[in-house]
Amino acid sequence: MARQFGERPPVSMRVYNFAAGPATLPLPVLERARDELTDWQSSGMSVMEVSHRGRAFARVATDAEADLRELLAVPASHKVLFLQGGATLQFSAIPLNLAPPGCTVDYVCTGAWSKKAIADAAAFATVHVAADAKASGYFDVPEQALWQRSPQAAYLHYTANETIGGVEFPFVPDSDGVPLIADMSSTLLSRPLDVGRYGLIYAGAQKNIGPAGLTVVIVRESLLGRARQGTPAVLDYRAQAAEGSMLNTPPTFAWYLAGLVFKWLKAEGGLEAAALRNRAKAEALYGYIDGSGFYSNPVARACRSWMNVPFRLPRAELEQPFASEAARAGLANLEGHRSVGGMRASLYNAMPLAGVLALIAFMRDFAARHG
Ligand SMILES: *Cc1c(COP(=O)(O)O)cnc(C)c1O
Repeated sequence: MARQFGERPPVSMRVYNFAAGPATLPLPVLERARDELTDWQSSGMSVMEVSHRGRAFARVATDAEADLRELLAVPASHKVLFLQGGATLQFSAIPLNLAPPGCTVDYVCTGAWSKKAIADAAAFATVHVAADAKASGYFDVPEQALWQRSPQAAYLHYTANETIGGVEFPFVPDSDGVPLIADMSSTLLSRPLDVGRYGLIYAGAQKNIGPAGLTVVIVRESLLGRARQGTPAVLDYRAQAAEGSMLNTPPTFAWYLAGLVFKWLKAEGGLEAAALRNRAKAEALYGYIDGSGFYSNPVARACRSWMNVPFRLPRAELEQPFASEAARAGLANLEGHRSVGGMRASLYNAMPLAGVLALIAFMRDFAARHG
């Protein structure tokens, strides 16, 4: 039964939330937001209720950008935009901004999100699929020596981490001077990154950055100003950059919360430290799966995602009991994506090693009872 307004919440505890997105957020960030929710910075208002044009919110926006730049060591050559519409709207915004009418664009297809990016880009440009992981069942990344790039492509696009398949690029493609574009929705901030190698990086926030509603775009400034005629202003990177991502009302609460996540990440030691934690979490889970003789992960070892770990049980009829028993043990949202089934554990920055160890202990116990 839904609670009435004013009723006290039942006593509850935080669970380990393995959802792929919207995903778990750091508890200190949520507590901070809670503590200042109704009276933010002695304004007598919540941050949701103040003007995005006011000085207080301007500080939120500039801090968030400065902290993100520091975390990722974003070079001065690149603009940072805080947009709306999710990673999905970028599938269209990218060709609208960077592909002149009639030109060809190169895409590497490594799974479900690549396919969506390709389908949307095809409305605006001739999409050439330079490499397709289909032959591997989308469990591998084709090595770059085998790619067939088109000579005149306006850019080269790839999906750095396939959130559904759990396939992550183990290398940064060499684009030979063509703007390199990456969908980093589920991997940005998981480790250090050489941003200077990219023409554009984009990510929906709800995986590893903050709540849904915000999209981060990092784009080389020299690529701005090429939007084709008819591009809506909110999708035009130059127009958004000129307005500080405030061409219209931005998602202020999501922006504020992402800013708190950046401050939390910095306090936790930045991305070098995050990478060590993320590697340890992933190695613990893959190591257990591989040695279990019960669970399995189909992805080529070199391309296994640190962030999204899909796994299968030996019999499909065990999936439902696994998910519901896990949920009762405080391990939530382990069902795989509806398109592929199986299980999936997402291990974003906010998932502590303790959560992964609790999952492994549960998996061991479940296997012993059903093996
Ligand atoms: C989640 C996700 C998307 C879609 O993000 P939205 O913000 O829902 O549009 C795109 N690409 C990847 C790799 C994702 O993980």
